[in-house]
Amino acid sequence: MTDNVVQAAYIVSAVLFVLSLAGLSKHEKAKEGNAFGIAGMVIALVATLWLSASRSENALVTILLVLVAMAVGGSIGLWRARVVEMTQMPELVAMLHSFVGLAAVLVGFNSFAEGGEAGTGETIHLVEVFLGVFIGAVTFTGSIVAFLKLSARIKSSPLMLPARHWLNLAALVVSAGLLVWFVVSGSIVPLLVMTVIALAFGWHLVASIGGGDMPVVVSMLNSYSGWAAAAAGFMLGNDLLIVTGALVGSSGAILSYIMCRAMNRSFFSVIAGGFGQEVAVGADTDYGEHRETTAEDVAELLRDASSVVITPGYGMAVAQAQYPVAELTSQLRKKGVNVRFGIHPVAGRLPGHMNVLLAEAKVPYDIVLEMDEVNDDFPDTDVVLVIGANDTVNPSASEEPSSPIAGMPVLEVWKARNVVVFKRSMATGYAGVQNPLFFKENSAMLFGDAKERVEDIIKAL
Ligand code: NDP
Repeated sequence: MTDNVVQAAYIVSAVLFVLSLAGLSKHEKAKEGNAFGIAGMVIALVATLWLSASRSENALVTILLVLVAMAVGGSIGLWRARVVEMTQMPELVAMLHSFVGLAAVLVGFNSFAEGGEAGTGETIHLVEVFLGVFIGAVTFTGSIVAFLKLSARIKSSPLMLPARHWLNLAALVVSAGLLVWFVVSGSIVPLLVMTVIALAFGWHLVASIGGGDMPVVVSMLNSYSGWAAAAAGFMLGNDLLIVTGALVGSSGAILSYIMCRAMNRSFFSVIAGGFGQEVAVGADTDYGEHRETTAEDVAELLRDASSVVITPGYGMAVAQAQYPVAELTSQLRKKGVNVRFGIHPVAGRLPGHMNVLLAEAKVPYDIVLEMDEVNDDFPDTDVVLVIGANDTVNPSASEEPSSPIAGMPVLEVWKARNVVVFKRSMATGYAGVQNPLFFKENSAMLFGDAKERVEDIIKAL
């Protein structure tokens, strides 16, 4: 009886999760999508708690233990979610993926210790354990490296070990051999050896990927964490965990594929740790002198302009400049200037970062355009305001084949009549490469915090 009710509850949750994903794919329906997700998760938690209580000898102790664990985890989660800055969100997500990976490893070892049924059932169980621990371990260390890179605790440039692709291949081949040994012998030794290899493999895979490709890595780890959860679902015999894991795994994979296409990267090359990409890192080129400007001069430029495109990036998020930017936009629109936003698919530090900030500051959706919708309009644009963006407006992506970001489509802002770049210094962006845009004749640098500078322009206007 309990089992039937729980299975029915799981089906309702699974449907709610699908509705949640569908809702989250559109701005207007995102809140509704979140509500479906929360409802699905509440039903799933209550059903699982009930199931474990009904199966245990002392239901009260089981429920109490789970509630204590949830209270501890939940409080830490709530505290982190409240204090995290929007700009630190990707690091937090990477860190959370590492927990899913670790959980899959622990569930795998636990499931191995408990043992499966005899006969074919045991073979299937051992394969599940092995794959679950493998995917979990790769996700665990891969996500830790992603966290360290995103939070700038380690350098974002790719680690280039000699014969690195052979090392990856060797790790896979040896693990396949260990799987055979494990299934035949049922011994813990091959499982332990594989765990160590998988931990090193996950670390190396993400360490070999350069800063510019990190967005794809984050969504790829999201996908891995889904597969790790699905593997844990198989080991625990929990259907909802299998369905949820598969939803996360496949949506993460689809997102990675879409991002790869948007950034003109080969999906296989990125998931295989930068396979086939040989780039010269940090080549020093002299691009000449840059020109500085002032807020008053920019106000003057804007006064005479009839079309303006704003291309925001990570710096706008750091400075929290979206509010004055929205104010400036509305002032210019009142004067009859055609103002639009050009959003690069990987501007900021997580997919959709800029869209969320601009929506928060109540910039109308219809003037927020995607890169492809705005790129052809730059030659007819009077002024482009590049607000805290760098890699996403870097001409070397199309002009320098040896650049680490070569081939990535960018906002072609340099084709406009005037370009004003808001940043604090001549420092490089996330990918660590110099930007020749800053030295072009039609470009001028407006140094300082983006929020303060935009406010200065509003005053001057
Ligand atoms: P970048 O990281 O290339 O550049 C941001 C610029 O903002 C910096 O050059 C910095 O210059 C400037 N800046 C920082 N703080 C301020 C401030 N307070 N005021 C004014 N300027 C500031 O940003 P983009 O958005 O152009 O590119 C995103 C990069 O991040 C890409 O390389 C992308 O691949 C990567 N990435 C994207 C993810 C995603 O999903 N969107 C995830 C992970 C990485 P200065 O220090 O001189 O002020």
